[in-house]
Amino acid sequence: MLKDGFGRTLDYLRVSVTAACDLACAYCRAPGVAPVPADPAGEMTDDELVFLVSCFTGLGVTRVRLTGGEPLRRPGLAGLVDRLARLPRLEDLALSTNGLGLAPAARALRRAGLSRVNVSLDSLREERFREITGRDGPGAVLAGLEAALSAGLDPVKVNCVVARGVNDDEIAAFAELPSRLRVHVRFIELMPQGGTRRFAPERMVPFAEMLERAAPLEPLPRPAWPRGGGPARYYMKPGAVGSVGFIAPLTARFCAECNRLRLTAAGRLVTCLDGADEADLRSLAAGRDVDRVFGAIRTAVAAKPRRHFMIERAAGRPAAGAPCGAERPMWTTGG
Ligand code: SAM
Repeated sequence: MLKDGFGRTLDYLRVSVTAACDLACAYCRAPGVAPVPADPAGEMTDDELVFLVSCFTGLGVTRVRLTGGEPLRRPGLAGLVDRLARLPRLEDLALSTNGLGLAPAARALRRAGLSRVNVSLDSLREERFREITGRDGPGAVLAGLEAALSAGLDPVKVNCVVARGVNDDEIAAFAELPSRLRVHVRFIELMPQGGTRRFAPERMVPFAEMLERAAPLEPLPRPAWPRGGGPARYYMKPGAVGSVGFIAPLTARFCAECNRLRLTAAGRLVTCLDGADEADLRSLAAGRDVDRVFGAIRTAVAAKPRRHFMIERAAGRPAAGAPCGAERPMWTTGG
């Protein structure tokens, strides 16, 4: 079992399978940064990735989420899912995607062993979707959701990052989605990461306000919460088939319960979204030396920061003793 210096158990790994993305979301990329082209040489091969994930499962990680960049941009993703799903101690294999390419891929991914999927969607309006992402799309993403549901991926969650003056007027419309689709919509507070380091504090809509604007909602009893190891709290509209959740990394910081680690597409281990430290595991994967990889993982985990300092940093007042913040945007860390 992996324990950090504060007694937290780390059993959840998010793996970026590529930093390439077909969207350029304004809050993820710094202004003017184009979607990165795939750089296969700079990213882990399937063999390296499966080997490193097997080291993590060997140390007690039971849940893995594939993310990016946009994971559906990685050639042969279903083959990779098939290999990962066979790892003996892996109990849950999930995917985070922008959903654009999900409709044609959902069935093959399910067959390969994917359990569930999170789809990011920040606007249901055509023109606004294009403004935020640089691409056409809510129709294709909604088709992806339907395909995921009919392929048997379960649960299917929709992640919506809310930004004031950008899409906060759609909270009520998003909260209605689970009334007709068996999906779990989660509203996420905008974090000062990537393209939003400076404007996040003003644009961030706090959990309490999102909850009010999504009303009427009833708290959902914990046993009825959709499967997943994350920090969301769930509610439900009367008569709905899915739920509405909230993720509040800033106003209800959940660092004390943090159970996650991140592996970038380049094979670097990141123990905190806000931490600057990275451990190069890819270079160790070449020799297939399990003990050295175990050692590097344990050393990095022991130094996992106690908490993030995003709020202080975004406000320009780093707290005393705060470690250096990461300049890494979400698309490189694996959001
Ligand atoms: N392409 C995949 C997707 O769209 O889900 C995976 C990568 S994307 C970086 C993962 C998630 O990070 C998305 O839901 C995105 O909205 C979220 N994200 C990116 N930047 C963010 C920020 N500054 N604050 C909150 N969430 C952010």
